Amino acid sequence: MRLIRSRDTSPELRVRRAVHRLGFRYRLHVKGLPGKPDIVFPRHKIAMFVHGCFWHRHPDPGCKLARMPKSRVQFWLMKLEGNQSRDKVQQQQLRDLGWRVLVIWECDTKKPETLNAAIRKALETR
Ligand SMILES: [Zn+2]
Repeated sequence: MRLIRSRDTSPELRVRRAVHRLGFRYRLHVKGLPGKPDIVFPRHKIAMFVHGCFWHRHPDPGCKLARMPKSRVQFWLMKLEGNQSRDKVQQQQLRDLGWRVLVIWECDTKKPETLNAAIRKALETR
């Protein structure tokens, strides 16, 4: 389903680079937090997930990456809905622990302005 891409172009790395460039300090994959957030900002108590649009079903109707495959629709629907409801539960668990949750979608990591704005908004407003 997914091509092996070089690490340097992964959505997560693009986000990390953007965060770093904006001057924020973060930690990676902090253990013990629900859903193992990709990037954690302990000082801001923000847990950030970089979600693949297909696997986590990006709800934006304009997102081309989130399109459903044309075959084995039932299979994919079940699998992807499972992912989606697991995301919801984990995000709620984080909120219950006092964390704010920020989801960055894969397609947005390719738009530097959108990405920077989302990061800024989350980290500069409290
Ligand atoms: Zn998307």
